[in-house]
Amino acid sequence: MSQCEMCGKAAGTRRHLVEGNVMELGTCCARFGTPMDAPAATGSPAAMAQGLERRATRMTSKNIYQEPDLDFVEDFGRRIQVGRTNLGITKEDLGTKVHARVPELNKFEAGQLRPTHQQARALERELKITLLEAVAAAPASATAKKGPKGTGLTIGDILKDALGKE
Ligand SMILES: [Zn+2]
Repeated sequence: MSQCEMCGKAAGTRRHLVEGNVMELGTCCARFGTPMDAPAATGSPAAMAQGLERRATRMTSKNIYQEPDLDFVEDFGRRIQVGRTNLGITKEDLGTKVHARVPELNKFEAGQLRPTHQQARALERELKITLLEAVAAAPASATAKKGPKGTGLTIGDILKDALGKE
């Protein structure tokens, strides 16, 4: 049984909006807030809060929280290919070591797909190469030429995108 956040009584609670804050309220205190799980009237503060909450959920589900100050070197694909060829190991073997499937490795080496940072770290270790480098605060023009489409999105980009659609 959850606890009413207003009075502390153990009760079946529901999410309510109370003066802009989301609180779990029991029926004891439900009158102080607006229920969040029921559709709120359009344009009401509760409806806006529900929208924000949904958006926040969407945003955190993507892997946008990678190490923010690191970016892939431009020729990361070639470096992976050269590194692997130098070691004389197959993609199958490399894939096992860095937890990537061969089709993925093909795309990495072609520069069509970026490894996850975890995979990149493993590739760097296995192949003794550098794939990620620290990025200095870059001017906007430098951010624009960030590799394949759909990658390199910043939280700012996503926010801008989300807000633009409203
Ligand atoms: Zn209560």
